[in-house]
Amino acid sequence: MRRVYLDHSATTPVDVEVATLMMTYYTEKYGNPSSVHSFGREAKQALEEARKQVAELIGATPSEVTFTSGGTEADNLAIIGTAEALRKKGKHIITSSIEHHAVLETCEYLEKNGLDLTVIPVDEEGILSVEDVRKAIRPDTILISVMHANNEVGSIQPIAEIGKLAKEHGITFHVDAVQSLGKIPIDVNEMNVDLLTVSSHKIYGPKGVGALYVRKGVRVVPLVHGGGQEKKRRSGTENTPGIIGFGKACQLAGQRMAEDAEHHTKLRDKLINGILQSIDHVKVNGPMGDKRLPNNVNVSIRFVEGESLLLSLDMLGISASSGSACTSGSLDPSHVLLAMGLVHEIAHGSLRFTLGRQNTEEEIDYVLEQLPKIVERLRMMSPLYDQVMHIKEAQ
Ligand SMILES: *Cc1c(COP(=O)(O)O)cnc(C)c1O
Repeated sequence: MRRVYLDHSATTPVDVEVATLMMTYYTEKYGNPSSVHSFGREAKQALEEARKQVAELIGATPSEVTFTSGGTEADNLAIIGTAEALRKKGKHIITSSIEHHAVLETCEYLEKNGLDLTVIPVDEEGILSVEDVRKAIRPDTILISVMHANNEVGSIQPIAEIGKLAKEHGITFHVDAVQSLGKIPIDVNEMNVDLLTVSSHKIYGPKGVGALYVRKGVRVVPLVHGGGQEKKRRSGTENTPGIIGFGKACQLAGQRMAEDAEHHTKLRDKLINGILQSIDHVKVNGPMGDKRLPNNVNVSIRFVEGESLLLSLDMLGISASSGSACTSGSLDPSHVLLAMGLVHEIAHGSLRFTLGRQNTEEEIDYVLEQLPKIVERLRMMSPLYDQVMHIKEAQ
């Protein structure tokens, strides 16, 4: 059966060049980077090269990059690590209502342990207002954590403005940039970011690797204690092949960013316009144009269940997502769509397609040929749709 992968915000394939490079560090250059002998030194050197490659993609210096087991750990380290480091300074943290669970759940964990949490709402496009952040700031605010681009609807947040605000108030600013890395430019200095989370497997690198950028002079208390690797910020023998793969993936992403963005935008707009033209009662979720990630399509199709749509698409080999990958499997509507003001019924019928380098126009044509047929068939079985059509006919 033909298969079309349109779920690149959940994960990406590992680039062949990345995988090939990694293989060497599994089977030949397998030294522990902490060892002093030649095997260790060779691994250490490659590890530091990877650190440079990650730093370069975000405008940081290599010594500010701490490798972790992924985006989730980096988010935890940023948030819990700051709360612990600044325990004496204050106990108030600010985040947004559309954060990834790795941020939201971590903030809620701290709230259960006695910290105060303010969750900033978003508008109907999934974008928060800098003014709302300003109003939420208190004398005891120690951390603001806002994502760069949302994983479900692709909305891009005004990070540089929030960064400026945080800096004016002397508040540590953390940004989850997992979805924006490699897709749109990131500069930690221009954006006044103190802590920035990135992950490898969303940019054609291996799973289980990520990093936290920690601005020079900013302190985070480690979560993992032991041998003192990563300047004591994250103990444990480094996942050398994974990290080296991540570095390579960053280098490639930097080189290809403009080309990828052009390709993604073209397919994105073709898919959005095609859906709007061929299916009625459709709402596009998230902003249009340059406030949206180039590779994100998110639509609510009324009078159908998102889960039924997903299953029907999957039977035709088309892999999409409803809401975020972490919450699919549960039938709760997405917290992001609800935060944007969608009612439950509409949030339930939502579908996310996230594009990647290898997707083609022809694949989008295939989706546009199949999706309207699926929607029509599911709507025929929907009592709600039946009612609406009868009302229309009667008018
Ligand atoms: C995927 C993702 C994460 C988690 O990263 P992992 O490396 O999978 O742990 C965090 N934040 C956002 C926005 C993501 O999309």
